[in-house]
Formats: sequence, C-alpha cells, structure tokens
Amino acid sequence: MPHSPALLAVAAALGLAVGALAVRPLVFAFSVEDGWRRSCPHCEHAVLGVGWTAYAELVRRRCHNCSPVAAVPLTAGRGGTGSEPVQPVRIGPAALLPEVLTAAAVWGIVAAGASGWLLAAQLWVAVLGSAMVLIDLRVQRLPNLLTGLTAAGIALLLVGQALTGSGWQVLLRPAIAVGLVGGVLFLAALYELLGLGDVKLAPSLAALLAAQGWATLYWGVLAQFVFGFLQGLVQAARAGGRVEPFFGPGLIVGALVVSAIAG
Ligand SMILES: [Zn+2]
Repeated sequence: MPHSPALLAVAAALGLAVGALAVRPLVFAFSVEDGWRRSCPHCEHAVLGVGWTAYAELVRRRCHNCSPVAAVPLTAGRGGTGSEPVQPVRIGPAALLPEVLTAAAVWGIVAAGASGWLLAAQLWVAVLGSAMVLIDLRVQRLPNLLTGLTAAGIALLLVGQALTGSGWQVLLRPAIAVGLVGGVLFLAALYELLGLGDVKLAPSLAALLAAQGWATLYWGVLAQFVFGFLQGLVQAARAGGRVEPFFGPGLIVGALVVSAIAG
C-alpha cells in the first residue's frame, strides 16, 4: 500500500534525527582500529559519556576544547602573529553524512511498504546498518556491539512475530538460514576469505530474509554478492588495485534492498 507524502516526510525527518543522535556518535566511537573511543582524536577531551553539552559538540562536529586554540600552528607563538584566521577542529564523520544516509534508508524502507514486525526489523537493520556501513568503509571493521545488537533485534522481532499469531513455524526458515549461512561463512573465514565481523553479521541478515521466504533469501544473498562485488570494484579502482576485501556494506545494502522489495 503506498504511503502518503506526509508520512514519508515524517519518516525522513525521523531518519535525520536518528542519524544525528545515534548513528553519528556510533560512527565516531567505533571508527578506530580496535575497541572504541569517547574522546576528541586531536586533544583527548572527552566527548561521549560526559553529558549533553559535550554530546552536542559531536553533533555539531566541533570540539570546543581544541577549537580554535589548539588549531593555531605551533609556530604562531614564535614569531607568528598568532592571529591568523583559524579553522575550527572538526570531529566525527563528514557533515550530514550519517544523517542523510540514515534518512534515505529509513525513507526507503517505509516507502517500500512493509508493516508490523517486519517493518520494525527492517528499520532496526537500516539504522544500525547505516552506522556499520560508514564504520566499515572508514576502518574496515564491524564492531561486535553493532553486529550483536543487529542479531538480538532481529531475533526479538521474529520471536515477537511468532508470539503474536504467526506461530512458531515462522522461525523455522530463519533458524535453518542462520545455520547454513553461518556455517558456510565460518568456513570461509577460516580460510581468511572474509573477516569475522562479516561472519557475525551475515547470519542475522539471512534470518531476516528467510523469514520472508526462501526466494527472498536467495535473491538477498545474490544481491549481497552483487553489491559486494561492485563495492570491491570501486575500492580497487580507488586504491590502485590492491585492497583488503571487506563486505559489510554489500551485505547490508543487498539484504535491505531485497527485504524491502519483497516486504
Ligand atoms: Zn579537541
């Protein structure tokens, strides 16, 4: 059923807000090689977990502790005038990037027209997926917290669907899909064909697709390969042919597009 333009506008606005308030901090926190960070990468001033004022700095991409003082060149005190116009020190992902990506994902999911538990699961993947795509593109990792939350959310929503009338048999296909995809990818990871983050993410996406039918799972996996391949081509072109393979964006975009279309 097509939605009204007003509802779609509300969905896009909510996507923008979630992008700013949740996806942006997640991308900031996890765009590090290991673990996570809560401080400005330039001056170690704490940005996350110390209240709303510091949090607002992250949303505005500006660390007040090193803007503008610490941005003055070191030479300024030794013969420089010290009064050159100074660029504020920017922190976190590029302006509007998480916001627009999340809004586009949420808008697309709502426009595709799923409802109920399926819509909730798609939106959950869209929001966490927006964060994971940006993190994976930036530092080639899928943090355990985000792959874990994705899996937990999809599992909860599928169980909710089963409890509210669809019956437990709706969990059979997702369970088989998790076993199959998880097993195959675990073997692939043993041979270092893909990273452990991908192995932790793919089974839950397969569960979502399988909940909609075997054909959806089939097309979803195919789309994941196609998007992953296209992403690899772009990466290879940009890096001059030598790239470490990473599949997070392909897995997420492929699963979401097919899940939404099949919705
Ligand atoms: Zn700073």
